[in-house]
Amino acid sequence: MLAAPMAVEIGPGAVAGLGDLLADRRISAGGHVAVAVGPGYGDEIAAVVDPALENCDIVRVEEGGALNSALDLADRLRKRFYDAVVGIGGGGTLDVAKHAATLAGLPMVAVATSLSHDGIASPVSSLAHEGQKASYGVQMPVAVLVDLDYVRTSPVQMRRSGVGDAISNLSAIADWRLAKRERGEPIDGLSVALAHTGAQAVLESDGTVEDDDFLVVLAEALVLSGLAMATAGSSRPCSGADHEIVHAIDHLFPDTALHGELAGIGARFAAHLQGDHALAAELDSCLARHELPRTHRDVGLSDEQFAQAVAYAPRTRPDRFTILEHLDLDEEAILNHVHSYADALAG
Ligand SMILES: [Zn+2]
Repeated sequence: MLAAPMAVEIGPGAVAGLGDLLADRRISAGGHVAVAVGPGYGDEIAAVVDPALENCDIVRVEEGGALNSALDLADRLRKRFYDAVVGIGGGGTLDVAKHAATLAGLPMVAVATSLSHDGIASPVSSLAHEGQKASYGVQMPVAVLVDLDYVRTSPVQMRRSGVGDAISNLSAIADWRLAKRERGEPIDGLSVALAHTGAQAVLESDGTVEDDDFLVVLAEALVLSGLAMATAGSSRPCSGADHEIVHAIDHLFPDTALHGELAGIGARFAAHLQGDHALAAELDSCLARHELPRTHRDVGLSDEQFAQAVAYAPRTRPDRFTILEHLDLDEEAILNHVHSYADALAG
């Protein structure tokens, strides 16, 4: 069974309407909730939420989405009786709130104020611990709201990053199909449909992250990605060789670029290895249209560093079969691919 949120709302005014939503959906009639707020908009959001939710406790969450922040929040949640946890902020804050709510056994409402990656409505939290990121399975949020008033004013680089994460579904789905052909891995058709539909809409839209219409398309794609992961029971529909490369770069060369920026680069390279020239060209023009980095060179990695990351990538998801495991290239072959690929794009 699909554990879907009972409410998904994308539009302006979501934070201000929170109290009504919690009451209408029978999540919390009296507003006895803990509200975890990220650092970016802390005071501003507190000023809006406080009058709407008289009985709420506002908890500030540190920047960076750390495992320790989630454990601290879970401790606080156990000390009082709450109906639910509301996370308001970017991806890092929502990941902290999702994990803490799961540990405390409380329903969680996600209110996204940025669209930098597909963790808004997913059953996965990516949290940092001692310099490394790890993924934790968590409950799906019971409600997902995207507040366009905040998204619109979030840093442009964050909005673009969400584009890269959304379109990486397309190379990830190709990897899933490859795994079915090569080793009989079952494919979930609904999961593929959800992951594909949103990504394709982003790919085909000619809007930019400055337009509200496009931000709605992007928000829908990221929510659908989360539902695709919930349906599959894993990140499979949204994470193939593209994300193995992201995780390898994060591990070997931390803080190179935002998650979605690297996912776009990873997807573009994966499509090249998959030999899907049509997809590679479509991904490339989408990345260029949104002024996203197209190759590793655009984020300051040398060909040798990127080849090192590609060679390391399969170790980041040991059981995931993708084009990387299929080709099983040695370091020299990878470097040759990287040179010719990056030269062709630069030329
Ligand atoms: Zn991602």
